[in-house]
Amino acid sequence: MEMNTDPFHRKITYLRISITDRCNLRCFYCVSADSLAPLTHRDILSYEEILVIVYAAVELGIKKVRITGGEPLIRRNVLHFIRLLCAIPGLKDVSITTNGILLKDMAGLLFDAGIRRVNISLDTLNPVKFQRITRRDRFRDVLAGISAAKEAGFSPIKLNVVAIKGINDDEIQQLARLSVHQPYTVRFIEFMPIGKKSCWHREKVITSDEIKSRLESMGSLQQVPSSVNDGPAKRYRFENAKGEIGIISPISDHFCATCNRLRLTADGKLRPCLFSDHEIDIKAPLRNGCTQDEIKKLFKKGIAEKPKQHHAGHGNNTCLRPMSKIGG
Ligand code: SAM
Repeated sequence: MEMNTDPFHRKITYLRISITDRCNLRCFYCVSADSLAPLTHRDILSYEEILVIVYAAVELGIKKVRITGGEPLIRRNVLHFIRLLCAIPGLKDVSITTNGILLKDMAGLLFDAGIRRVNISLDTLNPVKFQRITRRDRFRDVLAGISAAKEAGFSPIKLNVVAIKGINDDEIQQLARLSVHQPYTVRFIEFMPIGKKSCWHREKVITSDEIKSRLESMGSLQQVPSSVNDGPAKRYRFENAKGEIGIISPISDHFCATCNRLRLTADGKLRPCLFSDHEIDIKAPLRNGCTQDEIKKLFKKGIAEKPKQHHAGHGNNTCLRPMSKIGG
């Protein structure tokens, strides 16, 4: 078996790295009350430590990295870190997930640093609702950030919508329409039970089938053949649209059989599955002077210990960490 293949024959090639647990928004479904006390500078991995880990991961077969958080763009000197990350030989793809607030000023610099693909979170097109969801009045900054990303030349630009009943189910069609006149991929993601104090409830999930049928009522929705960077999204396109639709169903139709990812939390834990609190500490061994080979061993352990599938969404099954402290 190859070094990066897990016991269920999945090849692990993708690492999501959270570089901070801090955020400039307070989305009610992501930052729970117990996640408000942020980690200290000493608690989180330094950029140098993250780079050492990525060098080892690439030797094991990691080819794609996504930078996330918290809000990754608020961490100091993030552009310098990204430049170094993008220069790692063997790393074929570096992307970022952001709430877009700082993109107005940073999109061009991010592009110059080497990033080409950006995911921006946008759950609503209503500024009042935006403030209700995020507890911050930054809607216009996000819109400006999305335009700046387009200006800078990012492609694709994916707009991530977490679909929650009673919150934005009345906007699914309006959000989807963004993909018609703009070259954006609007991606609907099912609401996931994450964090012990999460406000998740099964009744709040809008399943991917429901989303699809609402979109089908808008016009002809054609399936787009999948390609390597799709991840778990099922892709669609309205006739003559400039952009695309993505539908991601971690709950109603999980895609664990093709999961190719590991997560590295800001405090240096390797997390084999988003929904499981089983983690492997890399920070302590790293700070105790472990070798590159020892980091590779920890990664192999993470790969070997990936569960066959998650059981989130059944009963009370969820993990302890809130999303903001894992890295979405
Ligand atoms: N701050 C960045 C952002 O806003 O995109 C990156 C981190 S955020 C945790 C990443 C993504 O996770 C966001 O799109 C957010 O909406 C999503 N997310 C957070 N909690 C979620 C949940 N319970 N279910 C589904 N998606 C969630």
